[in-house]
Amino acid sequence: MSATIAVLPGDYIGPEIMQAGLAVLKAAAATTNFDYQLKSYPFGGAAIDATGEPLPEATLKGAQAADAILLAAIGGPKWDDAPQRPEAGLLAIRKALGLFANIRPTQVIPALVPRSPLKADIVSGTDFVIVRELTSGIYFGEPRELAADHAIDTMVYQASEIERILRAGFELAQTRRRHVTVVDKANVLATSKLWRQIAEQVAPDYPDVTVDYEYVDAAAMKIVQQPTHFDVIITENLFGDILSDEAATITGSLGTIPSESRGISGPSLYEPIHGSAPDIAGTGKADPLSMINSIMLMLRNSFQANTTADKIAKAVAATLAAGIMPPDLGGTATTESMTNAIIEQIKTRE
Ligand code: ATP
Ligand code: MG
Repeated sequence: MSATIAVLPGDYIGPEIMQAGLAVLKAAAATTNFDYQLKSYPFGGAAIDATGEPLPEATLKGAQAADAILLAAIGGPKWDDAPQRPEAGLLAIRKALGLFANIRPTQVIPALVPRSPLKADIVSGTDFVIVRELTSGIYFGEPRELAADHAIDTMVYQASEIERILRAGFELAQTRRRHVTVVDKANVLATSKLWRQIAEQVAPDYPDVTVDYEYVDAAAMKIVQQPTHFDVIITENLFGDILSDEAATITGSLGTIPSESRGISGPSLYEPIHGSAPDIAGTGKADPLSMINSIMLMLRNSFQANTTADKIAKAVAATLAAGIMPPDLGGTATTESMTNAIIEQIKTRE
């Protein structure tokens, strides 16, 4: 059966890195018999230009019908005065697809160790994933109020919301090194106390997974002091937002990091964590690795196409090891030359 992938190229460097990623996918699929078809739809600023809306009906329908969704990056100054924000499309598609789990890998492959702000012996071998709850918590809780003399935000979690994100994390851990770290602030927050109770109830269902618990402040320290400790971190929305940016920083560049947003059922959405980088659009300086890594994540998590993903991973590692790197990693390769070098590796390597 052929996999259907909805492609949302987006804005500014979005289409540049999408084109690069899809060229790499094509080469790797051809050598590993991964069968797929692409369906491209306007989204974000490009969709506002074409239809007046950031998430046109046809785009949403196409995304819902697909097996996985690839998104590059959207928005930028061109739409500063538009009647609708390109980013409104992202919120709308997340909501429509019920994407409650945001999954962000932090991996420091050997060729990128020198790019990390951390010492080589500390960061070498880092390979963990943050599973962040995306649809609840303090960003959504009511009441919220802003007055001159006080302000209120509210953190609310339903037990069912906590359980489903924990299970998503435990299941992911079973495909990795089987180690979950639940991050909370259970010494202070009621939501965190509930979080920990439910984690203790759920954990016995995954007897092959080791669980530990960390307060978020301690976890923030450990990410820079001993990042190799972690395999799968599961945490709530606000803590995950902060920790995943911290984790991105230790890899040395925004331009390489992918993400998956997962729903209860239906397709996952894969995208780079960075924005549309208007400052470098059209210059050839866009690092395509964030998109290529997003495609690898898609191959593994949505299609169990590990052979195809491994093929790309090896080609990327060999390309970087040969010193071919884009400017954000300290090199001089363009988006196109980087992509061609990776494709060359795919074609020549076993
Ligand atoms: P957003 O609000 O959409 O997240 P932002 O203001 O955080 O956008 P980004 O678009 O993420 O900004 O870019 C931040 C910086 O990182 C910019 O200088 C941009 O050029 C650079 N950058 C982002 N993505 C890449 C990439 N793939 N390759 C090279 N540089 C990148
Ligand atoms: Mg940003």
